[in-house]
Amino acid sequence: MPVWLWFVSACAAVMVAYFTVPLGNASNLLYTTVSAMTTLALAVGVVKRRPAAWSAWVMIALGQASYTFADGLYYLLQSVSGEIPYPGPPDVFYLLAYPLLAAGLVVLVRRRTPLWQSATLIDATVVGTAATLLWWVYVLHPISTAAAGSSLENLISVAYPVLDILIFVVALRLMLGAGTRNTAYYLIIGSLGLMLVADTVYAVANFADTWMEHTWVDGVWLASYALLGAAGLHPSMRRLDEKATVPAPDATSSRVAVLAVASLVGPVVLFIEHLRGRDGDVPALAVGCAVMFLLVLLRMAGVLATTRIEATTDALTRVYSRRFFSESLRVELERANRSHGTVGLILIDVDHFKQINDTYGHPAGDRVLVELARRLRAISRPGDILARIGGEEFAMVLPSADAARAVSLAERVRRFVSATPFLLGDPKMLSVTVSVGVAVSPGDGVEDTELIRAADQALYAAKRGGRNRVVASTAATPPTPVGPVPAPRTAAAAA
Ligand code: GH3
Ligand code: MG
Ligand code: MG
Repeated sequence: MPVWLWFVSACAAVMVAYFTVPLGNASNLLYTTVSAMTTLALAVGVVKRRPAAWSAWVMIALGQASYTFADGLYYLLQSVSGEIPYPGPPDVFYLLAYPLLAAGLVVLVRRRTPLWQSATLIDATVVGTAATLLWWVYVLHPISTAAAGSSLENLISVAYPVLDILIFVVALRLMLGAGTRNTAYYLIIGSLGLMLVADTVYAVANFADTWMEHTWVDGVWLASYALLGAAGLHPSMRRLDEKATVPAPDATSSRVAVLAVASLVGPVVLFIEHLRGRDGDVPALAVGCAVMFLLVLLRMAGVLATTRIEATTDALTRVYSRRFFSESLRVELERANRSHGTVGLILIDVDHFKQINDTYGHPAGDRVLVELARRLRAISRPGDILARIGGEEFAMVLPSADAARAVSLAERVRRFVSATPFLLGDPKMLSVTVSVGVAVSPGDGVEDTELIRAADQALYAAKRGGRNRVVASTAATPPTPVGPVPAPRTAAAAA
């Protein structure tokens, strides 16, 4: 049996013992034992597994050590003096445990997703705000307004739920961000979830003066310890900080559902409190609702912007898509017709591209397309619209270009591609050529279909004429021929 399972079984056995003995010194000792075993498990995990993110695990272990010390001190004071002052010395160590745990988790999150992920951050903040509202209305606000005890006592009572919110937001960021989801990850998430449940029940019961020791809530805390210790011992803890290879998950339907539920928390709480004849702190609810409303709006604006970019961009080469090309060509032609202007169209097709794929493989073919797009982008002017309109076919829409400019640009494209071989990974170099067809409006027509047909026919003529050449439509042909046409070349590898 793996060591982490041994550990969980041992914790389970001590927990059973804890609930079989009556409340007293023996049960207190058993409780502290699970806490101490967890600290030990985390320490052993750091030494044995040697994770790259050791500082994160050391902080988590120190946090648990602080917890164990607080538990031990609490029970020691209880057995010696019977009554423990509140707040007392154990509270210092209980409170210290939270920032240590949070710091450890933040280091893990930062290593998993080093880039600023605004979408994930917004999602975590929305859900965090919803939870904060619930905490505020049902836990913090009543505690702070009850204020029967000393101001220090109230401050400490409020500090626990506030620190819980801190842990909650960090846990959310861990859950909503990208990164490995392995066993150690699920053990940590489970541990944090149980801890937050137990802490919340404690805070509410403490406020309502109904808190009792030695109940199921202790079991939830102990289970939370056991899962944390198991995470530290599990072999997968070494990979928990691995940098995420996929971008942050976008607005999937489940994510939108989470955001919707979170945004509804404010209005629902307001309504429930209204039915109960209370106002549930209207200013806080109003501010919370406004914050969440603006954040969700911001998030949706981001999604829209991303979708718009994706719809108009070719995924492989990052030039415009065929759809954007068709639309822009139509718009540019309409504009030119109105103002009696001109529009140039260049179609570029890689020669014998199938042969490149067949010889070097599809990924190499893709690299050729990416490099070709880069060269075309380098040659085009601002205002020119460069798009990938087919597998190995590109188009350039040239607003206000006359035949002379369109043909000379086409010739520059042809030369720029054939002049320098394409690098297909060291040391493989590949000579690539393109055939180019040119048409202009209004000479070749004022409709997009007419212009495309003319450019396509010119491209076909270039292919038939031997490839690696520019052919202009009749309307786009200047009175004098364009430059010397070199002998056709085929795509061939040269070391
Ligand atoms: P020609 O000189 O007559 O243009 O010959 P060709 O081989 O370039 O033309 P053909 O239309 O026969 O082949 C185009 C090839 O492009 C076929 C297809 O497998 C390949 N292709 C289409 N899309 C992609 C792509 O995204 N990546 C890669 N690597 N290949 C693609
Ligand atoms: Mg081709
Ligand atoms: Mg083709």
